[in-house]
Amino acid sequence: VPGGRRRGRLQTPHGEVRTPAVVAVAPHGAVPALSSDELRACGVQALMVDTLDLALRPGIETVRRLGGLHHFLGWDGPTIAECALPTVSGQDDASGEAPRSRRASGQRSRVLQLDDGGVVFTSHVDGARVRLSPEQAVLDQIALGADVLTTLAVGEGAGNRRARESAVERWMDWLERSVANAEAMRLLVALPPALMETQPSFHQHIARFEVAGYLWQSSGTEAPFLDWSGLPPARIRFARGIPDLEDMEREIELGFDLLACEFPIRDARRGRVYTAGGPMDLLHPDLAERFEPLDQACACEVCRTFTQAYLHHLFAAEELLGYRLAAIHNLTWVCRLVRDARTA
Ligand SMILES: [Zn+2]
Repeated sequence: VPGGRRRGRLQTPHGEVRTPAVVAVAPHGAVPALSSDELRACGVQALMVDTLDLALRPGIETVRRLGGLHHFLGWDGPTIAECALPTVSGQDDASGEAPRSRRASGQRSRVLQLDDGGVVFTSHVDGARVRLSPEQAVLDQIALGADVLTTLAVGEGAGNRRARESAVERWMDWLERSVANAEAMRLLVALPPALMETQPSFHQHIARFEVAGYLWQSSGTEAPFLDWSGLPPARIRFARGIPDLEDMEREIELGFDLLACEFPIRDARRGRVYTAGGPMDLLHPDLAERFEPLDQACACEVCRTFTQAYLHHLFAAEELLGYRLAAIHNLTWVCRLVRDARTA
């Protein structure tokens, strides 16, 4: 296993994150259905927002005028901004989740054009064409007031040797331009998995930039080949796109410090909750008469208060409370797992 499990601390202007840590994903400025107090109670230490999403709605300037990201969200803890674009080169969403799935009900954002100046994509809000440069992406995140920023990266890399080389060149150019526009020690570099796999010398290129750390898009299907040996150990390693509990535990063993987790909420929505005996389907009819909590050992508000029978009833009735309670339990569950990994 390259790397191995690590333990550390990330200092931000809005407090410290003890790592490894779960980062709750708030794409539209919210972790679906949960308030800041609830996130805290679950054990969440940091939130990640999608800069492009907030730029399209309500607008960067609006958030800034309303007092900045923390004020706007009602969250006073650490925040991480990302700039997630869909992949190009025919890899568009082949894996369903990576690199970002938009709300199922809305339009999907689509990259139309990629050149040295930046990227042109369609807005998932209204379909409008939006142009974004790597510089502007960083400036937008600074204007939002996020604690940790992420470089703009487009998931290209498929194709022949020449195409890969030009993708590396563009990526390096964008990185230099991003670093020039931000305090580099607040910046996470979004690593392009396809390029790292095909260009072994890639690590040396990026190791020379003094940045806060690296954002890695998990492939989700198998443990990614990620050789940390060429990268400075004191920098944050952030895994994105983690599909499930198993992968989350694998990423911790691979030496990741921050783990962006959407799957606990996604699972909760379809009535899938975590227990010591494995995942439980809240719609299963056997639960109708079970008067014990989801998990005897779980200390979350849901397990302290409600029975499996009640949660089953809420899901059968499609009552919104059911989704919220399942989300609170699942998020608490993953935060506890990661905390145990931290203190073990
Ligand atoms: Zn619980």
